[in-house]
Amino acid sequence: MRTKIVAGNWKMHKNAEETEDLLNELIDRIPGDTDVRVIVAPTFVNLASAADHLEFTPIEVAAQNMHQAESGAYTGEISAGMLKSVGVNIVILGHSERRSYFHETDATIAFKTDAALQHDMEVIFCFGEELKDRQSGNHFNIVENQLRDGLFHLEEKDWEQIILAYEPVWAIGTGETATPDQAQEMHAFIRETVRQKYGSDIAENVRILYGGSVKPDNAREIFSKPDVDGGLIGGAALKATDFAAIVASA
Ligand code: 13P
Repeated sequence: MRTKIVAGNWKMHKNAEETEDLLNELIDRIPGDTDVRVIVAPTFVNLASAADHLEFTPIEVAAQNMHQAESGAYTGEISAGMLKSVGVNIVILGHSERRSYFHETDATIAFKTDAALQHDMEVIFCFGEELKDRQSGNHFNIVENQLRDGLFHLEEKDWEQIILAYEPVWAIGTGETATPDQAQEMHAFIRETVRQKYGSDIAENVRILYGGSVKPDNAREIFSKPDVDGGLIGGAALKATDFAAIVASA
């Protein structure tokens, strides 16, 4: 039985005060004994205070990105060791916004994944096809290549630290979700691709989250699909009532 995960990617939203307010509202609304893993990813400047704030709560904190080097002359960047030093043990890597606006390639994301694993962090590895790929029927190929080029150099033991997040780019922030059947079809394909490379144990245990316009009114049906192990939530993670309702649907 795979534990469900609901993670909120706050992207570039919420200043210090707003972060504190939203965390307080989430602490009030999310039951202390929830059997869902709940993760939030505020911006870098608010991560240390968020990690402190959430220390004795069931809510975990993640970063939205990191650099692959240990340290060095990389102006504006943050390393895995720095994240760990403020109590952050999870990082989102490979988000489509990082891939498209910041030109991150599968190779860069693979290096970042290695750096995170060296620091014993968990990685929420994001991938998914663009609209043109779905329209041309190339979506399975694209997803398989992203998975292979980003993660298939890993050793078996590394997979305990990997959470997959399938996010079709055409569904992110657009209000258009994949249908529950489209999500299930792709998640089953992803699990099968992992199985062919790493075997059944790893494939059955890896959590595969769906992301892209998940809202309180569609979460339950998407999460009910057998290969969907929860969600990575953008817009709806910024409102405590919505995010708590999505957690309750998982
Ligand atoms: P939305 O939920 O706003 O579509 O964003 C999804 C996402 O990109 C989460 O990482």
